[in-house]
Formats: sequence, structure tokens, C-alpha cells
Amino acid sequence: MTFSVASIRKDFPMLAEKINDKPLVYLDSAASAQKPLQVIEKERQFLCHHYAAVHRGIHRLSSEATAMVENVRQQVIDFIHAADSEEIVFVKGTTEGINLIANSYRHGFIKPGDNIIISQMEHHANIVPWHLLAGQIGFDIRILPIDNDGKSIFEQLDRLIDSRTRLLSFTHMSNVLGTVNPAKQIIAYACQCAEQKAAQLHILLDGAQSIMHQMIDVQDLDCDFYIFSGHKLYGPTGIGVLYGKKALLNVLPPWQGGEAMIDQVSMTLSEPAIINITYEKVPWRFEAGTPNIVGILGLGEALRYINNIGYQQISAHETALMQYANQRLSTVNSLRLYGSDERQGVIAFNLGEHHAYDIGSFLDNYAIAIWTGHHCTLPLMDFYQVPAMC
Ligand code: PMP
Repeated sequence: MTFSVASIRKDFPMLAEKINDKPLVYLDSAASAQKPLQVIEKERQFLCHHYAAVHRGIHRLSSEATAMVENVRQQVIDFIHAADSEEIVFVKGTTEGINLIANSYRHGFIKPGDNIIISQMEHHANIVPWHLLAGQIGFDIRILPIDNDGKSIFEQLDRLIDSRTRLLSFTHMSNVLGTVNPAKQIIAYACQCAEQKAAQLHILLDGAQSIMHQMIDVQDLDCDFYIFSGHKLYGPTGIGVLYGKKALLNVLPPWQGGEAMIDQVSMTLSEPAIINITYEKVPWRFEAGTPNIVGILGLGEALRYINNIGYQQISAHETALMQYANQRLSTVNSLRLYGSDERQGVIAFNLGEHHAYDIGSFLDNYAIAIWTGHHCTLPLMDFYQVPAMC
């Protein structure tokens, strides 16, 4: 298939919208991507003709809906090259996935006096859950710093990792700078440092920004966890994926309780009552409650959509757009770009003394949608000593 921008644009009804009578120029996909008709139609079809609760109900619609959901789990395995369906947990999004791990770690995986490492370019979703947990348990958070080009100085892991380091959690790709962390190299180096220091280190990759820009192979990366959201990947909001190595997920305790995650529940009428519960195996142990069935099916359709185009085609087109943008932006006086020229997917800038919000409102007059603000990365704004970026 050749890459036809015109036909792909036609798949996205929002791109035909006008704002203030001007055609919408949507440059805010890193906050959330627009949806192709295929995803919209899949959800409509399911709601109109197939809707039912899942979890192996006996009636026909329920068993079909269950099979559809489990098919998407299989699609996810293929999409990120996981080894097994037991490694794929449906969550609400990246934020929930990271919170799930943080909450499961509470039970003995991380102890007072231990430490974890996150990077200076993290999204708040990969800072706050650890800060909350550190406050409750009493462990240290160490920061992997970045240089002026917005690249992680990962050689410092040798200094940061010691025998009590339990986790290295970092973003695969910065949602602000477009920095692509060389994850495979960083993970190999971190594991080497951990081995030397006899640390039992796990690696979590925040894939919220990388999943739509590069083909992911979690086995090749050798991360313990990889987490992403559906909505940045042309799928619906409220659905995401937590990949975890099976051996690890198997020993992690559940974090939310409710239907679907149990095997048996019994109670005595004694006072106090004795309640006995055994849990489902993974991944269901981590999927309490009625899942976002429509969202899961929409996500499956989004994966199919991307596969039909192909990452190679998407990457080549993105690279060409980035070269063009870099070249044109370099001619704008007093424009400051952040990060390095090797950025991918996003461009962060400020213009002279103008506040980013003013630039955002000005562009909005022309129906050009960009995100302005701290991009949920306040420590990164501090590093560059700016309140906000475009
Ligand atoms: N991490 C990164 C790098 C992100 O870009 C985002 C979304 N902007 C998140 C985490 C959080 O994702 P969500 O809001 O979909 O949970």
C-alpha cells in the first residue's frame, strides 16, 4: 500500500471540521489523537448489534462478546510482541497502569530503605504514584538527570543504582521534547549495573508516547512492564494496556477487588466473620469489575488500522514532516526549540517573550490546535526555567 495522506485524512471525520469558518489544523495528537471512522464504526456496530456483558456468560451474546474481548488481547500480544496472553492486562490508560504497579508493589515488593529511579523528563503519571507510595512506605526516589539537549544521561545509572534499587521507571519517549530514550541500551546497562550491585531491579517503560511512533517489541526491549493508552493511538479514551512479564505478574498481588478477579469467595456467620477468597489467574486477577468492553474493541480496531498502514510508512512520513518542520521553524526569529534535532513526533518551543498561552490562543484564531502549558512535566519546565511551552 502506498501512503496517501488524502485518503488517510478522509478516515478522520474531525479533520474535515471547521473552527471559526477555518479548516481545523489539528496538531495536538500527543495530548490525544483523533479517531478514524473504522474505530468509530466498530464501536457503533458493537453497541447496535453485539452488546452484552463479558466474562464467559452463558448466553450467546455474552460468550461472543467475551471472545471478541479476548481476541483483542491476542491482537495486543502480536502488536507489542509479547509472549503470552497472561502478560496483557486491560487498564484505563497509562496512568492507571502505573498506579496498578505502584499499588501492587506496596505489598512487600518495595521496603523501607529501598529506592527507585525515575528520570527528570517524566510525565506526572510516572512521578506522582511513586511519590505517594514513597510517602507511605519510606523509600527514596532518585532522579536520572537529562542534559541540555533533553537526553537522559543514562551513564549515571552506575552511580544511582545500588543494592537497594528495586525499580527503574522511565518514559520511552518524551511527550514534550520528542526525545527517544534508547530503551534497549538503557535497560541492558541498568541490568548490568544491577547485577554488579546484586540489586533485584525491575524496569517499567512508560510507552504512552512511543506506542504510536515505533514498532514495539517488549521481548527485545526486555522490560518488565510496558504501559500505554489507547487514546493516543487513535483508539478510544478510558482503555489502555499494561504488559508485564508473566513470571512477575504471577507473583504480584491484585490491587483492586471486585467481580471477575476472584476464583472463590466464602464467608462464615461467626463474629468476626471469616472471609476466604482465592483469586483468578493473571491477567484477570488485575481486571476487577466490568471492563470497558466498547473501549477494548475500539482499541483492537485502532491496532488493525495502524497495522494496515504499517509502522514503516508512518515513520517515513513522520520523518519527512519533522525534517520540514525543523527546517521551517529554524527560519523563525526568536523561536526557541527545546530538546535535540533528533526529536520525534512532537516539537516543543517558545517564541520570544510571549507566553505559551498567548501563542496558543493566537493560533486558535486560525483553527490551529496545539497544546500549551507544562504538559504534565513540571520538573522539565523547571529544568528549562520556563513556566510553559508550546
Ligand atoms: N506518560 C506520558 C509520556 C504521556 O504522554 C501521558 C499522556 N499525556 C501519560 C503518561 C498519561 O496517559 P493517560 O492520561 O492516557 O493515562
